[in-house]
Amino acid sequence: MAKKTKNKSKSIRQTRIVTEICIATVAIVSAVYVLKVTYDHTEAVPASPFIEISAPEDTTEPVPEGPDKIIYESVEYPTAKKFEGELILVNNDTEYYGFNEELVSVTAKINEEQRKGFAGSDDSVQLRPAFYNALADMLERFSTEKQIDDVVILDGYRTTEEQQALYDADLAETGLETSERVAKAGFSEHQTGYACDLTTATTWDYDGQGDYAWIDEHCWEYGIILRYPKDKTAVTQIQYEPWHYRYVGIPHAYYMSQNNLTLEEYTELLRTTFPYESQHLEIQYDADNKCEVYFVKSDDSNENTYIPVPSGKKYTISGNNSDGFIVTVYLEGDGQSPAPTSAPTEPETSESETTNIEE
Ligand SMILES: [Zn+2]
Repeated sequence: MAKKTKNKSKSIRQTRIVTEICIATVAIVSAVYVLKVTYDHTEAVPASPFIEISAPEDTTEPVPEGPDKIIYESVEYPTAKKFEGELILVNNDTEYYGFNEELVSVTAKINEEQRKGFAGSDDSVQLRPAFYNALADMLERFSTEKQIDDVVILDGYRTTEEQQALYDADLAETGLETSERVAKAGFSEHQTGYACDLTTATTWDYDGQGDYAWIDEHCWEYGIILRYPKDKTAVTQIQYEPWHYRYVGIPHAYYMSQNNLTLEEYTELLRTTFPYESQHLEIQYDADNKCEVYFVKSDDSNENTYIPVPSGKKYTISGNNSDGFIVTVYLEGDGQSPAPTSAPTEPETSESETTNIEE
């Protein structure tokens, strides 16, 4: 009987130990789970693996704070659109993947709009509509202010085949194995429709000097940059091309020209220093127009990327052609050209308001 009691109490002790171990295990597992969940929820808003869980929360509870107390909400945006837009970087290292570009014929538009003071070289020259409008406004003002009317838009959009033909012709001419003057097919900015070459009907050799220096000084006011400057050949890997201009949009052209940045340097700056989660780049290019700009990484494992955008404010989204999107928010003004300081004419009322999301 005594032995039985002893066995019984031993059995109770064992059971208690097992129970305590079980409770301890459950407690540890719970603690780890709570920690994990907490950690997950402190991740940045658009972190891709949890986006489907966090996205609905974002819209109902627009937490992320920003300058001027802007409320942000997430919009679903096709990830493939990172290869489209006015700020895409196309160079020797970064191929252009776009297609079905919306284009206008330069000479047709000049005739239709009865533009004066400049010309297109022939009917084949095509540009993106936004670029054509900006370029035409700029060249018309240049002609009026300088009383010069010989600027010719020599070249614009090129197909891959046209770029290849130019490349082959350059090899034939130079006898080199790789061209030092012409970009490989797929790697030319001309294929985007956002680039053009200027010349003059007087010299057919545009150097951007003398009276024509006005264009380099004022092109930012139209969202245009000199793409391959003399002091940046190491960055662009392209020789100085005083004739080659690129459309990027006014706030960006302003910031690049003020800070002497190429498109390579500017897109890198946005990616590294101004991601959405961090500070946003504020750009005020005149008394009436103020923007903020930030970078959002693309969610490459999903068809769509959630992009935080301001609620109730005008904004545009452009891809950077590699790893994400650049959002431009118009805090004040609507991103139109600043009123010309030297011309007495009233700024025209714009016929086409840009929509919230570009192209
Ligand atoms: Zn060019």
